[in-house]
Amino acid sequence: MNQNFDIIIVGGGAAGFFTAINIVEKNPKLKVAILERGKEVLSKVRISGGGRCNVAHACFEPNDLVKFYPRGEKELRGPFHQFCSGDTIEWFRNHGVELKAEEDGRIFPVSNSSQTIIDCFLEATQRLGITILTGQSVQSIFKKDNFWKIEIQNENYLAEKLILATGSNPKIWEMLQTFGHAIVNPVPSLFTFNIKDARIKELPGVSAHVSVKVKDTKLTATGPLLITHWGMSGPAILKLSAWGARILFEKNYQFTIFVNWLNDVETEDAKKILKDLKLEHAKKAVSKKSPFDFPNRLWESLV
Ligand SMILES: Cc1cc2nc3c(=O)[nH]c(=O)nc-3n(C[C@H](O)[C@H](O)[C@H](O)COP(=O)(O)OP(=O)(O)OC[C@H]3O[C@@H](n4cnc5c(N)ncnc54)[C@H](O)[C@@H]3O)c2cc1C
Repeated sequence: MNQNFDIIIVGGGAAGFFTAINIVEKNPKLKVAILERGKEVLSKVRISGGGRCNVAHACFEPNDLVKFYPRGEKELRGPFHQFCSGDTIEWFRNHGVELKAEEDGRIFPVSNSSQTIIDCFLEATQRLGITILTGQSVQSIFKKDNFWKIEIQNENYLAEKLILATGSNPKIWEMLQTFGHAIVNPVPSLFTFNIKDARIKELPGVSAHVSVKVKDTKLTATGPLLITHWGMSGPAILKLSAWGARILFEKNYQFTIFVNWLNDVETEDAKKILKDLKLEHAKKAVSKKSPFDFPNRLWESLV
């Protein structure tokens, strides 16, 4: 049996819901459906931002906002001129959700709960009569005359317009290639580093404001670094992995990093800090393997 809609959106995540709501608000006559393969919609929104949902960034100039994106700076300039962080704040305010910016620029709902965003999306789709169908894993799509035919195990759907908001689903990307779209091969980003090095073995939990450099590349990052049980994490490492995603992939994730543990502290100031600390904690045992013992400021490690 066929079910007919004007527009079908595949994927019940943030992108699918935001798209559906904006379409029907602009044209209430349209019959719109969201098809979601999971039992629940918006499951990633729930866990986003540590359960608080980092909705936007407090940077209101499109030309500045694009600089936060390691790739796609050129591609995002146009869309951000259409809809930027200020528009996001206004959109949510118009839908009953107040947002707040934190010191580092991240914007969250005042409630500090991603459930507020989920409730906002669900309330809007219900009010606008958008059909939400869960347990609908789209297997294949065909263009048939002026319609898209969407096949799901026991059901077929027909729609005049089709929107794919399926996030990271390689099968859908393959399908898109058959329609002539070019797909840029994705590589991992925002990951921590796995390092086997005796010098940090005893130091999980230690953090410092550092600068990190990847040997034989121009990749550098500054910020907090956290030593973990498996290697290194924290904003400086995550930043490096995001900006260097393609380079690190090409290196098959085998590379050497230099960590400047003193970052922008002058050597003389560092000596004074260490002397003061030595006096303050005269009786405390310090591991000989501590990277802070290294005199040349730079510490090299193989990832
Ligand atoms: C732990 C974590 C925290 C994050 N925190 C933030 C944050 O605070 N702020 C932020 O902006 N981003 C955050 N992100 C990134 C976030 O995941 C994306 O911004 C957002 O979820 C992308 O939404 P989306 O709708 O494009 O994709 P998704 O949320 O992945 O939604 C795609 C949907 O499509 C469905 N689907 C896929 N294939 C099919 C198919 N064949 N048929 C039917 N349905 C299908 C999937 O089941 C899914 O529900 C976080 C990510 C993670 C993993």
